[in-house]
Amino acid sequence: MRLNKAFLFYVLIAFFYVTSCTSQNKDKTAPNIIIFLVDDMGLMDTSVPFLTDANGTLKKHPLNDFYRTPNLKKLANQGSLFTNFYAHSVCSPSRTSILTGQNSARHRVTNWVHPEWNNRTKFGPTDWNWKGLTKESVTLPRLLQREGYKTIHIGKAHFGPLHSNAENPLNLGFDVNIAGNAIGQPGSYLGTEGFGHIKGDKKRAVPSLEKYHGKDIFLTEALTLEAKLAISQAKEAGKPFFLNMAHYAVHAPFYSDPRFKEHYVNSGKSKNAQAYATLIEGIDKSLGDIIQHVKKLGLGENTLLLFLGDNGSDAPLPIENGYSSSSPLKGKKANHWEGGMRTPFIAAWVTPNKTVSSQIKLPIAQQSTQQQLASILDIFPTLCDVANVTYPKSHVIDGFSLNRQLNNQKNEERNELFLNHFPHEHRSSYFTSLVKANWKIIYHYQPQGLPRYELFNLKEDPYEASNLADTNSEQLKVMMTVLIDELKSKKALYPEKDKLPMQPIMPN
Ligand code: CA
Repeated sequence: MRLNKAFLFYVLIAFFYVTSCTSQNKDKTAPNIIIFLVDDMGLMDTSVPFLTDANGTLKKHPLNDFYRTPNLKKLANQGSLFTNFYAHSVCSPSRTSILTGQNSARHRVTNWVHPEWNNRTKFGPTDWNWKGLTKESVTLPRLLQREGYKTIHIGKAHFGPLHSNAENPLNLGFDVNIAGNAIGQPGSYLGTEGFGHIKGDKKRAVPSLEKYHGKDIFLTEALTLEAKLAISQAKEAGKPFFLNMAHYAVHAPFYSDPRFKEHYVNSGKSKNAQAYATLIEGIDKSLGDIIQHVKKLGLGENTLLLFLGDNGSDAPLPIENGYSSSSPLKGKKANHWEGGMRTPFIAAWVTPNKTVSSQIKLPIAQQSTQQQLASILDIFPTLCDVANVTYPKSHVIDGFSLNRQLNNQKNEERNELFLNHFPHEHRSSYFTSLVKANWKIIYHYQPQGLPRYELFNLKEDPYEASNLADTNSEQLKVMMTVLIDELKSKKALYPEKDKLPMQPIMPN
């Protein structure tokens, strides 16, 4: 009798073990991942409000009434919208950070990559990483590729110049590359112009879309069709997919997308601004179309989508006292102000279902607003987590997994800090900015003069109207100490004068 009981016990244990293993295996279906990256889309380039009032409630501003992004609104309703999301202030640094999880001060692709030459600019660091990542670099697509993902790049790449490894996404871990190379903007948005091959800027002609040449199709639509095709092919191959959907829109040149033109003719805005709004609406349609396609294939519950911009807005709007494209935020793309580096970020499962294993592993609170800081550096660790992928210990990352924040919680363990190091020339030149909790400091190296400091309390002054550098020297020193430590710990390269690095100088 005793023996029988023990036997029964072992049988039961074995039964539970087998069933739990079986269900685990079934649940191990790796999630599909879509990064939906919009070139130069800033925080205000949407009808969805991303800014909050003093009580933390989302608040509409005039630009939200100008743009039309209904699909983005739907996505926000089924996922988590971030109000304090940072990217680097120009393209190539942000794009390299998405692939590596590293701050640009560490990976050293600190300026946008010029396809034809070293874009160091006059006082830039000699050794900046102007050729970008290599065939050996640890990258997110390469890690996913090794785990059996079909890794797909579609659209603008801009990871490296002509004749570099990074020119071709296939060298960075992508199985498929459609339309990506060294260029940072399309020669033309029109199929009738061959996207630059027939008419427009031939040096910036978009590669690999020959089948649309001469046809009446907008670039955003052609890339969307290609994305749908690539997703279907991954499904047919029985593989999970990672899609880096990197639209050329809404970057200049500001072509008007005829499908949406009528919506803006009575806006009272300039022709360029109206064209820009059509580019935004085209992006929104693309988002809706890709979501519908994923659902139609029955993959919605197991597909995670991250929507974001790669730097602040470059909308062609008049500048008044430093406010324009991102108003009420100050500045725009390539500036040191918030308008230069705040971008929209929304994460959602394409079809929310709390009982599916991937969504149990990474729950995303629907219709939630996350106000804690997050950044482009967090994408790498978040996606490694959800896809169960490990990276070599030698690969230092600067981001934090967004697991808790996506589920509407505060992550007490992360730092609330964003460093944007820009030792080159652009709209704002030779600066390092650092946001930490409520404060922001900007250090201007000024190679031809004395350094200059700006200090803002973002909690009380979110639109950076009052520079407190002269009146709060104590806080200025606190922030400068952190800024210097951050740059050192990331082995940053500084602007150079007379061949010597210009280390930041503490204020008196
Ligand atoms: Ca960009």
